[in-house]
Amino acid sequence: MEMISRIRSSVIRMHSLSRASWRLLVARRPPVVRGYSSGPAPRVCIVGGGPAGFYTAQQLLKARQDAVVDIYERLPVPFGLVRFGVAPDHPEVKNVINTFTQTAQHERCSFHGNVTVGKDVSVEELRQAYHAVVLSYGADGNRSMEIPGEDLSGVISAKDFVGWYNGLPANKELCPDLSSETAVILGQGNVALDVARILLSPHEMLKKTDITQHALDALAGSSVRRVLIIGRRGPLQIACTIKELREMVNLPNTRADMLPSDFEGVAETLKDLPRPRKRLTELLMKAMNGGGDGPVENSWGFRFCRSPVEVLSGPDGKRAAGIRLAFNKLEGSGEVARAVPTGQFEDVECGLIISSIGYKTIPIDPDVPFDPRRAIVPNDMGRVQDTTGLYCSGWVKRGPTGVIATTMNDSFDTARILLQDIEAGKLDVSINKPGAQAITALLQTRGVKTVLFSEWEKIDAEEESRGKSVGKPREKLLNVEEMLKLAWS
Ligand code: FAD
Ligand code: NAP
Repeated sequence: MEMISRIRSSVIRMHSLSRASWRLLVARRPPVVRGYSSGPAPRVCIVGGGPAGFYTAQQLLKARQDAVVDIYERLPVPFGLVRFGVAPDHPEVKNVINTFTQTAQHERCSFHGNVTVGKDVSVEELRQAYHAVVLSYGADGNRSMEIPGEDLSGVISAKDFVGWYNGLPANKELCPDLSSETAVILGQGNVALDVARILLSPHEMLKKTDITQHALDALAGSSVRRVLIIGRRGPLQIACTIKELREMVNLPNTRADMLPSDFEGVAETLKDLPRPRKRLTELLMKAMNGGGDGPVENSWGFRFCRSPVEVLSGPDGKRAAGIRLAFNKLEGSGEVARAVPTGQFEDVECGLIISSIGYKTIPIDPDVPFDPRRAIVPNDMGRVQDTTGLYCSGWVKRGPTGVIATTMNDSFDTARILLQDIEAGKLDVSINKPGAQAITALLQTRGVKTVLFSEWEKIDAEEESRGKSVGKPREKLLNVEEMLKLAWS
C-alpha cells in the first residue's frame, strides 16, 4: 500500500493533477458488478485500436461480466490495418468492423482515439490507472533491405504505398513515381500481391472501391505496365496465399510472365507437398504455363531465388533506374530452405522499386521490455516478460505475420491468460483503479483531447456520404486536423 501511494504521489506531482482530484477519481464508485460480487471491477486498458485490441477487448468483456475495458488509439479513427492495410478491393474482409463496432459500443467498453501512448501518456501511467494494460499496437515500422541505394528516389516501402492508397494520414503526400513501364516488388507475401494487383487493376474496378481519390487519379495516369515480384527463395517457399494468387491470375487484360527455368524440379515434388502448398504450387505452375499470346496491355511475373543487393541509380545519381539481384541456390527443402548466394548477378531495369519484405514493431515506451532482434515485446503467452499486469496481443506479440483470424485467436489467448491471472490471484484487482477518468484528466492537463467512438461515427458518416456522391463506399478523410474538427463539431 505504501509503495502504491508513493507511486501515486509521484504520478500526481509529475502531471499536475491535484491530490484531491486524484483521490476523487479513485474514490468514484466502481461500475455495476454483475456475476462477481466482491471487490471492484477489473479495469483493463488496451493500447491500439486494431484487430488485436478489439478482439482482446471482446473476449475480456464476454468472459468477465464485470470487466471494464478502455481502448486507446493513436489516430482519431479506429480499426488499424483493417482500415489502412486491407486492400480497397477486398471489402468483404472489412466486415469485421461490424463486430469491432459492437465491442466499442458495449456498455463496459470505451474508445479513446487521438492518444499516442508513449508520447501523450506513458505505459507506467496507464499501469497506475488500470489493473492491467494490454499492448496491441501492431507493427508500425518497416524492415529495411539494408542495401546501397535504398534511399534513392523511386524506392518506396510497400507499407507507405499501401498507406497512400488507403488514406493513412502520414502517407498522403507520398506521390509514388508511376512514370516508368516496369515496377519491381521485392518480397512475395500477400502485401506484395496486394500492391501488384493495385498497380495493374483496371480503373473501372478500382473506382468502385474505397481507394483514396488521389491514388485513383495517380493510378489512372500510371505508365506501369509490367510488375516483377522478386523472391529470395523458390516457388515452393512463396509466402502468398492461393486467393491472392488467383486474383493475380484473373486480372483482366494482363498475362503472367514467368521463367520456366525458375520451376525446374517443382513438378516432381508436387505429390509430396502438404495440401495447401500443393494447391498453391499447382496454380503457380498453371500461371507459368498459361501465359497466352493474346493482345494484352499488362504483365506480371514472379522471379525466384534472387536477392536484392543494390539499387542502381540513373545518370543523375539521385533516381533509381534499376536493381541488382544476386542469384541464390537453396540449401535444405520445404518451408525452412535457406537462400545461399551463388555469386552470379542480374540487373533489372525499372523506375519504381517497392520493398515488401515485412512490417516491423517498434518500441513505444522505454519502460516496456523490447526484443530488438525479434522486434517484438518479449512475452510468455501474452504476459510481458518481467512486468506484472502488462500483456500483449497481435503483431506486437508474435511479429508482423498472420491474417486477421490468426490475430483474433492470438488475442483471445491473451485475454484468457489475463483472466486466468486474475482468477489465480497473480493480478491484484482488489484495489479500485480510476481508469479512463484519471487518464483523460491527465491528458487534458497536457492539452490532449480524445476522440470517443460516437465522435468517430461522425467522421464515418461524413466519409460514407462523400463516397456515395462519387459511387464509392466511402471517401476517407486524409487530414488528422479535419478528422478532429469534424469529430468535435
Ligand atoms: P494493427 O492492425 O496494426 O493495429 C494496431 C493499432 O495500434 C493501429 O490502429 C495503430 O494506429 C495503433 N497504435 C500504434 N501505435 C500506437 C500508440 N503508440 N498508441 C496508441 N495506438 C497505437 N489480414 C486478413 O485477414 N485479410 C486481409 O486482406 C489482410 N490484408 C492486409 C493488408 C496489409 C497491407 C497488411 C499489412 C496486413 C493485412 N492483413 C490482412 C493482416 C491484418 O491486417 C493483421 O493480422 C492485423 O491487422 C494485426 O492486428 P494488430 O491489431 O496487431 O495491428
Ligand atoms: P510476409 O508474408 O512475411 O512476406 C514477406 C516476404 O518478404 C517473403 O516473401 C519473404 O521471403 C520476403 N523477405 C523477408 N525479408 C527479406 C529480405 N531481407 N530480402 C528479401 N526478401 C525478404 O509479409 P507481408 O507480405 O508483409 O504480410 C504480412 C502478413 O499479413 C502475412 O501474414 C500476410 O498473410 C498478411 N496479409 C494478408 C493478406 C490477405 O489475406 N489478403 C493481405 C496482406 C497481408 P522469405 O519467405 O524468404 O522470408
